[in-house]
Amino acid sequence: MAALKRILVTGGAGFLGSRLCERLVASGHDVICLDNFFTSQKSNVVSLLARPNFELIRHDITLPIFLEVDEIYNLACPAAPGHYQYNPIKTMKTSVMGAINVLGMAKRCGAKVLQASTSEVYGDPEVHPQPESYRGAVNPIGPRACYDEGKRAAETLFMDYHRRNGVNVRIVRIFNTYGPNMHPFDGRVVSNFIRQALRGEPITIFGDGSQSRSFCYRDDLIDGILRMMDAPDDLVGPVNLGNPVEFSILELAEQVLELIGSASELKYEPLPQDDPTQRQPDISLARSRLGWEPTVKLREGLQKTIAWFRSVDLDHFRPPTPNY
Ligand code: NAD
Ligand code: UDP
Repeated sequence: MAALKRILVTGGAGFLGSRLCERLVASGHDVICLDNFFTSQKSNVVSLLARPNFELIRHDITLPIFLEVDEIYNLACPAAPGHYQYNPIKTMKTSVMGAINVLGMAKRCGAKVLQASTSEVYGDPEVHPQPESYRGAVNPIGPRACYDEGKRAAETLFMDYHRRNGVNVRIVRIFNTYGPNMHPFDGRVVSNFIRQALRGEPITIFGDGSQSRSFCYRDDLIDGILRMMDAPDDLVGPVNLGNPVEFSILELAEQVLELIGSASELKYEPLPQDDPTQRQPDISLARSRLGWEPTVKLREGLQKTIAWFRSVDLDHFRPPTPNY
C-alpha cells in the first residue's frame, strides 16, 4: 500500500480544490484544506467535514502559516476573469506571496509542492496549439495581467526555489476546465451559458463568438494533477493539462442550448480587452511522461455539469463579486 501522507491543498474549497480534496481523502491521506473562501464556500467541502482525515483552515495564503506537511498542492487564486480583475492587486499578491509562502513551507518541511499554473501564461498565443516551450504573448499592463503575470512570476519562483534551494517542485499549466461544483456565478463561459440557458435568459456571447477554447472535464484534470504529483522527480514541468479538442464559443453555446432544450436567444456583447482568440493545449508531454489524456468528451461533460446545475438551488450561492 502507498504511504499515507500529510497533504496541504491551498484553495482547497474551490471548484478544482474541493474535488482534489475528495480524491485525496478517499485515498486515506491526512488532508488539510486551506481557503479564504473568496470565490468558494464551505458547502463545497461539507461532505468531508466529518471525516477524521480532513481538516479545514480559513486562512489567506498571502500571510505566512506554519504547518508540517509532506506534499502541497497550491491552487489558491481566483481563476475567473471577472473575479480576478475585481481586486487585481490582491490577485497578484495571492499568486506571488502565496507562492513564496508555500515554497518556504516546502523548503522547511522538505515537502513536494505543485503549482496550479495556467494556459494564461501563453497570453493571446501566436503559436497554435501551445507547447510548453512556447513563451507566450502576454500584455503586461492589460486587465488580465494581474492573473497572467502573477502566475508567470509564481512559475519563476517555483523554478528558482527548485534550482537554488533544491525544493521538489511540479508545475502544471491548466487549460479551461469545467464540471459540477463550478461556482454558478463565477462568470466563466460554461457556468454563464448553463445558468442563462436554464433560466431562459439571453446567452451572452462576447465578440462574435469565433474565439476558441478547449474544455477539459474536471475529473480528467484532477487525474492529471495527481499523476503529476506522483511522477518521477525529474519531471518538474511545466506540463500542459487540458483537453486538446477545440471549440468556438458559438459552438459551445449551441451545444448548451441543445442539451438543455432552451430557447434562450444569443445576446452579443463587446469582446473584453486582451481576450485570447484561440487556445488549444499540446499535450504530447503529458501523454508521454504521465500516460495521461482526457477521456470525457465535451457533450458528456456538459451533460454531467448541467445535471449538477439542475440539482442545486442557485439562491444558495453568493456571487463572489458583481462581475459574472
Ligand atoms: P476557484 O476560484 O473555484 O478556486 C480557487 C480557490 O482559492 C477558491 O476556493 C478561493 O476562495 C481560494 N482563494 C483565492 N484567493 C485566496 C487567498 N488569498 N488565500 C486562500 N485562498 C484563496 O478556481 P478553480 O477553477 O478551482 O482554480 C483553482 C486553481 O487552478 C487556481 O489557481 C487557478 O488559477 C487554476 N486554474 C484553473 C483553471 C480552470 O479552468 N478552472 C484553469 C487554469 C488554472
Ligand atoms: N465568454 C462569453 N460569454 C460569457 C463569458 C465568457 O462569450 O458570458 C467568452 C470570453 O470572452 C472568452 C471565452 O468565453 O473568449 C472564455 O471565457 P472564460 O471567462 O470562461 O475564460 P478565459 O479562457 O477567457 O479565461
